[in-house]
Amino acid sequence: MTSAAIMTSVVGRETMAEEFYCMKCRKKVQSDKFEKKTLKTKTGERAQLVGICPVCGGKVYKFVKADFKG
Ligand SMILES: [Zn+2]
Repeated sequence: MTSAAIMTSVVGRETMAEEFYCMKCRKKVQSDKFEKKTLKTKTGERAQLVGICPVCGGKVYKFVKADFKG
């Protein structure tokens, strides 16, 4: 049995807002509705956050470090 191998990274996650720049609103917005997507490129992996603008409901993006925890 390898019960010790169970990861607990999901536990204790707080709802935190990230700052995005919304192209539609043309201003910075705070969104706590976002998900991380990892893109594979020639130079390696890049992580991108895709969020929902709380003002206009459009999608907002920003690049983060590949080891971003969120
Ligand atoms: Zn917006």
